[in-house]
Amino acid sequence: MANRVKCLIIGSGPAGYTAAIYASRANLAPVLIEGPQLGGQLTTTTEVENFPGYPDGVEPFQMMDDMKRQAERFGTQFVSGVVTKVDFSVSPKKVWVEDTEEYEADAVIIATGASAKYLGIESERTYKGRGVSACATCDGFFYRKKTVAVVGGGDTACEEANYLAGLCEKVYMIVRKPYLRASEIMQQRVLNNPKIEVLFEHNTVQLTGEGKVQGADLVYRKGEADEVMKHIAIDGFFLAIGHHPNTELFKDYVNRDAEGYIIVDGDSPRTNVPGVFAAGDCADPHYRQAIVAAGSGAKAAIEADKYIKSI
Ligand code: NDP
Repeated sequence: MANRVKCLIIGSGPAGYTAAIYASRANLAPVLIEGPQLGGQLTTTTEVENFPGYPDGVEPFQMMDDMKRQAERFGTQFVSGVVTKVDFSVSPKKVWVEDTEEYEADAVIIATGASAKYLGIESERTYKGRGVSACATCDGFFYRKKTVAVVGGGDTACEEANYLAGLCEKVYMIVRKPYLRASEIMQQRVLNNPKIEVLFEHNTVQLTGEGKVQGADLVYRKGEADEVMKHIAIDGFFLAIGHHPNTELFKDYVNRDAEGYIIVDGDSPRTNVPGVFAAGDCADPHYRQAIVAAGSGAKAAIEADKYIKSI
């Protein structure tokens, strides 16, 4: 028999937890399905310095645990598991966890976040888990005193490079443009770190090695008259080239843009399906910040409350 709830929240990042705090304080007795990565993407970073309320910075697991406990205090029920199927064509909406446990909900808040992108080169797959990683915080420890490369020129890449420089002998940053896209403060940290060498205008062609990553073939100024091939010896290859939204599951019901971000109604979290709301990075191609996600989670819970009272 299906579990009947008023408000179901999918995802345990800042958007999901904040939605849970607001929904539980509004007496919606929400159930939150935690998903594959408890605490969301933030838990793959090292330290959060820009979330208001933590003047000395905070360890991401700590921050997410604080949010969870805050939601728990007001009665949110947490379910560990992954949503595998939904049916938003009916009312109440149906959601299945691990294909077996069925929920029926008046309102659903989608807060499934985004996941790391890969370059799409063959050898990335060959060496996945054997030198290729998309999470420096998770895997950096294995590369102590070794040489690694980080691909990307945004804030994530800079953060990962700095973190790895604290553990590794040397860190290459492979940046396809002649400049970094990251914020000024992050750029300065990278450029002033003697362990980091930034390879501007380089693209990775392939990874090499016997059973594990031992090197990368790069090309400098690809397609230009002065194009040059370059090989670097590395032990680890870290992707930090952005993310794609985790929204495949909802594609039959909820409108998405060309990149898969859920389309919401103006600055509200309302989707095209009445009673289904989207919050956080799954619907935000622009800001992708924990504080913005948290704010949109609050908005989604307020809208869910309004919707439930209206039906
Ligand atoms: P971004 O989209 O900002 O940057 C992606 C980087 O990867 C760019 O340098 C891009 O190059 C490069 N890239 C993309 N595709 C490829 C490819 N196929 N080959 C090589 N390089 C590629 O993503 P981030 O994850 O860095 O950041 C996302 C958002 O999160 C941003 O708004 C950022 O500010 C924020 N953020 C903030 C942090 C903080 O404030 N502490 C920490 C981490 C993220 P190009 O520039 O050429 O497009």
